[in-house]
Amino acid sequence: MNKIIKLEDIEAEVYYKNIRNINLRISPPEGKVRISAPFRTTTKTIYKFACSKLSWIKKKRRMILESTSESLQYINDETHFFMGEKYKLRIQKNNALTEVKLINNEIVLQVPDEADSSKRQSILQDWYHLQLEMIIPPLISKWESIMNVSVRRFSIRRMKTRWGSCTPKSRCIRFNLELVKRAPECIEYIVVHELVHLLEASHNNKFKSLMDRFYPNWKLYRRELRSLQIKA
Ligand SMILES: [Zn+2]
Repeated sequence: MNKIIKLEDIEAEVYYKNIRNINLRISPPEGKVRISAPFRTTTKTIYKFACSKLSWIKKKRRMILESTSESLQYINDETHFFMGEKYKLRIQKNNALTEVKLINNEIVLQVPDEADSSKRQSILQDWYHLQLEMIIPPLISKWESIMNVSVRRFSIRRMKTRWGSCTPKSRCIRFNLELVKRAPECIEYIVVHELVHLLEASHNNKFKSLMDRFYPNWKLYRRELRSLQIKA
C-alpha cells in the first residue's frame, strides 16, 4: 500500500519496498516527490526524514518547475531546451509571418508586435509539437520492425506526471510534449518503453528483461529523465 504524506503544501507519495534505507526522489516534469521506505518504517520516521530534507526538496522542485514550461516568460535570452540542448530565446518582430527557427544556439521566434507571452508560448508549443511529431514516427517504425509489434496510433499531449503511456489493447501510445526538450536517447528510450508494453503490460521482470534485450542502457536514460540535473 502506498500512502501520501503532506510536507507543508507539498504532497509526497510513500512507497514501501524491500530496501534498507529511506530514499527520496523528485521527478520532472511536475516536481513530484516520491519516498521509498523499507517495509515497516513508521510514518513518524518517514515524516521526520522528509522534514529534515524540506529545504532541499523546495529548492530542487523550484529548479525543476523553472525548467518546465510553467514558469517561463518567453522573453529574450531566456533558456529553452530542444532535444537535450540548451538554447537562448530570441524574439524578433515580424508582422507578416510567424515563424520559429533554430539559428546556432538560439531559438528565434518571429512574431507580430502584439504577441504577448502567452501568444509566444503557444507559438513555441506548436513548434515543439510539430518537431516531436516528426521525431517520433521514424523511431516507432524502427522499433516496430525490431520488436515485431504494431502501433495503431500515437498522440502527443501535455501530461503532468508521465513521459508516455500505452494502452496495449487498443495499441495506442501517448507521449508527453515535454519529451521534445530531452536528449534523443531519452526520447528513444520512452518510445522503446511504450512499445515493450505491447508485449508486456506491466513493469514486471518480463518487461525489464525485454528492455534489457532491446535497449540495454535503458536504466541510464530512465535515470536521466528522472534526474534533477536538467542540463544547463
Ligand atoms: Zn510503462
